[in-house]
Amino acid sequence: MSEYFNIADIFGENVFSDRVMQERLPKSIYKKLHKTIDEGKELDPIVAEVVAEAMKNWAIEKGATHYTHWFQPLTGVTAGKHDSFITAPKEDGHVLMEFSGKELIKGEPDASSFPSGGLRATFEARGYTAWDCTSPAFVREDEAGAILCIPTAFCSYTGESLDLKTPLLRSIDAINEQALRLLRLFGNTTSSKVTPSVGAEQEYFLVDAEKYKQRKDLVYTGRTLFGAMPPKGQEMDDHYFGSIRRRIGGFMKEVNKELWKMGVTSKTQHNEVAPAQHELAPIYDKVNVAVDHNHLVMQTLKRVAGQQGLKCLLHEKPFAGVNGSGKHNNWSLTTDDGINLLDPGKIPNENIQFLLVLACILRAVDRHAGLLRESAANVGNDHRLGALEAPPAIISVFLGEQLEDVVAQLIATGNATSCISGGVLRTGASTLPDLKKDATDRNRTSPFAFTGNKFEFRMVGSRDSIASANIVLDTIVAESFSDACDVLEKAEDFEIAVHELIREYLDEHQRIIFNGNGYGEDWVEEAERRGLPNIKSMVDAIPMLLEESTIQMFEKFGVYTESELRSRAEIKYENYSKVINIEARTMIDITTKQIIPAVIRYTSSLAKSILTIKEAGASTRVQEKILAECSALLEETDAALTRLVDVESVASEMEEGRDKAVYYHDKVCTAMEELRAPVDKLEMLVDKTCWPMPSYGDLLFEV
Ligand code: ADP
Ligand code: MG
Repeated sequence: MSEYFNIADIFGENVFSDRVMQERLPKSIYKKLHKTIDEGKELDPIVAEVVAEAMKNWAIEKGATHYTHWFQPLTGVTAGKHDSFITAPKEDGHVLMEFSGKELIKGEPDASSFPSGGLRATFEARGYTAWDCTSPAFVREDEAGAILCIPTAFCSYTGESLDLKTPLLRSIDAINEQALRLLRLFGNTTSSKVTPSVGAEQEYFLVDAEKYKQRKDLVYTGRTLFGAMPPKGQEMDDHYFGSIRRRIGGFMKEVNKELWKMGVTSKTQHNEVAPAQHELAPIYDKVNVAVDHNHLVMQTLKRVAGQQGLKCLLHEKPFAGVNGSGKHNNWSLTTDDGINLLDPGKIPNENIQFLLVLACILRAVDRHAGLLRESAANVGNDHRLGALEAPPAIISVFLGEQLEDVVAQLIATGNATSCISGGVLRTGASTLPDLKKDATDRNRTSPFAFTGNKFEFRMVGSRDSIASANIVLDTIVAESFSDACDVLEKAEDFEIAVHELIREYLDEHQRIIFNGNGYGEDWVEEAERRGLPNIKSMVDAIPMLLEESTIQMFEKFGVYTESELRSRAEIKYENYSKVINIEARTMIDITTKQIIPAVIRYTSSLAKSILTIKEAGASTRVQEKILAECSALLEETDAALTRLVDVESVASEMEEGRDKAVYYHDKVCTAMEELRAPVDKLEMLVDKTCWPMPSYGDLLFEV
């Protein structure tokens, strides 16, 4: 039975939204709370008390039994301890529901089980969560019941951040302050706040849960460690935007409904390039809300899949040889009175404020290309970036024809007097309207592309939080705004100075602009000539966190202290080693217990049948050929397995840190590839009924 509903009826019904607050809070309290939200003013404990009471009553009406401080530790996923609202029973056996202002604004989860990268000595295990009132609280419904979730930041006893929200909020402050300085220079006196706006497009795969369970590699590592290519891949391009199958349609409907209830503006959904791959995009929002909502999207995709006999794979590269999944981080800067600083307007070449913003962004990306690359580094993304599919590992900026032309004029003469316009696209059919053409075509191969009134950073991995990328983006752009303002605020003639500065920035940083094919081999060579970094792996990206220029910048804008950066590098190395360790052990396990025994069974039955057939006097040429091939590959498999076991045992004995991660990358990953090769060949030879797990074809085409 289909259930239909009106989006407007359910949208945001589980959010303690502004409207709910307005309805339920006394006017004076509502106003004071808004001052905190809008202006970052400190929260009055009395206000917190009243808000907590209203929030509790509202949540209980929604069926909530528990509340949780929802936070984003450095594990990549969100966490929260659930506390129920009840107090100790009264003498007559009654319980009361309680939730104080103190419980709303501050929590004390034991921090010792979360990664801290040395920031927290074990004797100071205490950590604090603090309410982020700029991201609305909401009720999440799942099998455990309904829970009031309060978005919080997570810090150590000494105030160092142990999460991604704290530095994100700090970076929002930094860009706000510097962008306002820039606006004032252009005579803007009305905007009082500038906030990054972000829309994150989420890619994911869906596979059948029963088949998933038969693949220990998917279960333990989230990706397939073996698997021969199916006869049909994505070469027909028939999946992208293709019609959505019934089972998937039902899934998307439920996901949307859940998200809409929690106020997530799930907007577009479509099939992606690879078979079984899909995408979901919300409407953009303030960056910290967008980050929280993206976590809700990922969690909801997984939960609903589980309810419907499906499994949602968020890994960046679940299937070798098939398109991977990422997240496009659409980023712009919006004032509280609705101006988008990245909107070029009708005549971009005359929009000096826009041109300065653009020049600053190009400068920021060029100066910190390595750091931006690092912000998208995670173990899974190593299989994706630079692997001749979705963005290359080299950072460059795509501007499109129109802006590239404006920039070229500015560099040449300091002035841009003309501008290529979009014009009209003739459809050539009398019943179809002619379409107004964008002045810019799209470039799908660019990692950082200007798309009309925003930049689209396409490197972020599908499983990753978008927080790191936005922390870096906000801060590097804040730095360039700040440097520009330092010059311009002192200038005698602003008009002359701003033109000079735009020209200087563009001239100095034009090497970062690239409008061509980012997948081509010639781009790799060209980028090298230009001196652009080409960072191929996570272990090579991590040192970017500790570059002198990185530390100085983050400290200057109060986003990260040096010790916070060091702790993050440490956590990342450790995380890398752990992930590869699990992958290697899973490979060893599957090869030893499933693959080798399956091949032995198959070759034994072949050998027996050869004897029987020979007795019957028929030819056994084919059987013998297959037997010989399988036996040779089995030898190869065994040898590669031994090598993997050896390097893995060396690696796991090493002390945590960079050397260990590098060893895992150089030695263990290579040994894993060498083991995979003969096994994938065996899969193509061995009787399918003997093969111990579903094939790529089974997983990708039979959802
Ligand atoms: P495409 O897949 O073609 O890139 P989508 O419509 O799927 O486009 O996604 C674009 C994303 O960019 C959406 O999340 C959208 O809300 C977001 N977006 C649109 N305008 C802005 C803007 N000014 N700032 C930030 N994000 C934006
Ligand atoms: Mg996109």
